[in-house]
Amino acid sequence: MAQIIDGKAVAQAVKENVARKVEQLQERGIRPCLAVIIIGDDPASRTYVNNKKKACEATGILSKEISLDKETTTEQLLNVINELNDDMSVHGILCQLPLPKQIDENKIIAAISPEKDVDAFHALNVGRLFQGVQNLQPCTPSGVIVLLDYYGLPIEGKNCVIIGRSNIVGKPMAMLLLQRNGTVTVAHSKTADLKAITGMADILISAVGKPGFVTADMVKEGAIVIDVGINRDEQGKLCGDVCFDEVEKKASFITPVPGGVGPMTVAMLMENTVRAARLQYQ
Ligand code: NAD
Repeated sequence: MAQIIDGKAVAQAVKENVARKVEQLQERGIRPCLAVIIIGDDPASRTYVNNKKKACEATGILSKEISLDKETTTEQLLNVINELNDDMSVHGILCQLPLPKQIDENKIIAAISPEKDVDAFHALNVGRLFQGVQNLQPCTPSGVIVLLDYYGLPIEGKNCVIIGRSNIVGKPMAMLLLQRNGTVTVAHSKTADLKAITGMADILISAVGKPGFVTADMVKEGAIVIDVGINRDEQGKLCGDVCFDEVEKKASFITPVPGGVGPMTVAMLMENTVRAARLQYQ
């Protein structure tokens, strides 16, 4: 039976550490501030933004919500971002995705000042990640690394298989594992014989977005299984990509959904906001 990786507990530890750093910054007269832009009334986005605001409160970070109409244009959003870029009291800027169809997402990502880009989606931050330069790192993949470290699970020399190649999860996850000397394979929707590949994984990370996608026959005995997926099952219940009940019997460590990677993403956002504040005052 696998040991459960308690993402909630690790996220709490990360947030307590962030709170200490916020106190130190405040002693120097700096109050880290995160601006979150939300466009429209998507309920999932609203939940994510509320969670982020709660985490700000818990860590002492000031949060500023900018709520815009669902008809907002790219130009209007660019104006808001430019104002936040110029505002010295704002250290982190996050634009909650997905954006409405009329908005050019690439333009928006490119407009956020790289020093304030706490999601680390800007091309400059992606490039720095690629080069292995210490910088703002994307929240979900860096949260996975913190989880592995927290449980003392080595990455070096391990076969790491990621299912999913998105810019937000799969690709940056590959870079971070590579930096830690993992042997990395990125599988995706066009991968042939997925089972043969996942069956070699010492560390298997699923970021597909399909409930029940990872079954026990895809997992090596004793593997570490990290479930990034956030989905709803047929009953509308929150679930990951992994068939938890059957995979738990085969894995050595496993993250649950909820309570695994999700809370880490928010905790790492707090960590990035403090890092951004420090970078701006250095
Ligand atoms: P995405 O839709 O951009 O990417 C999904 C990936 O899955 C693609 O790269 C695709 O190639 C791959 N895929 C699809 N079908 C496949 C198949 N049959 N075989 C192999 N690969 C297949 O999604 P994303 O933004 O990377 O998110 C993935 C999941 O992670 C979603 O459930 C999302 O909600 C969740 N997510 C969670 C967090 C978190 O904080 N825990 C953060 C971001 C995303």
